[in-house]
Amino acid sequence: MNSNYSLVLATDLDGTFLGGSAQQRAEFYQYLQTYRDRLLLIFVTGRDLGFIQELCEDPNFPVPDYIIGDVGTTIVHGKTLEPMAAVQDWVEEIWGNSNDRIKQMLANEPGLELQPVATERRVSYYYKPELLQPSTVQKITDAGFDCILSADVYLDVMPKGISKGPTLLRFIESQHLNADDVIPAGDTLNDLSLFETGLKGIAVGNAEEKLVEKIKTMENVYHSSYPGAAGIWDGLKNYGKYLET
Ligand SMILES: [Mg+2]
Repeated sequence: MNSNYSLVLATDLDGTFLGGSAQQRAEFYQYLQTYRDRLLLIFVTGRDLGFIQELCEDPNFPVPDYIIGDVGTTIVHGKTLEPMAAVQDWVEEIWGNSNDRIKQMLANEPGLELQPVATERRVSYYYKPELLQPSTVQKITDAGFDCILSADVYLDVMPKGISKGPTLLRFIESQHLNADDVIPAGDTLNDLSLFETGLKGIAVGNAEEKLVEKIKTMENVYHSSYPGAAGIWDGLKNYGKYLET
């Protein structure tokens, strides 16, 4: 691992690293590329690896060093997409091959629609807020899983205790990173666990109201007034994280 970095940016993609105007994104990406050797870049996202591979086909897009994908359940090297066994096996063990069991259990629950993505250590649904029953959520937690609702659209059944934040902490530990260098950034409720790590975090200006409500009392989270990529950059400046110095 490159030990000369001065910043570890652990950022969500949609609405965060991919948020803001095209110009704001282009300027921020160029800044990061200029000082790329000082930066350890981690994508922490609900997206799968195929989506990220497509982004990286753009030569101006910063290729991440690591990817924590599938809401904390997939952990791979950014260039090779090889799993990081030290972290991913830990998730695998907690999950215990539960996909089929969960799909059966939730097959007839109102307001749920299975997402057309293949996931190995979680099960992802779309949900309709007006139809979702509290008893469905209860069923999931009673069976020993976590249930994450996000953006009024996504319902994820997760291995218990696993989400973006705990996986990031496990990653930091396994790589012997200095936690003070690690800055998470996000925009929706599924990023809350990143901020609950206690790391110095950035909520971007377009953060959803439900997240904004939660971070109001969290002193370790800076809420930028700028959207997406511009919000991350603003947050980094707020924390005195200048790559060029
Ligand atoms: Mg997002």
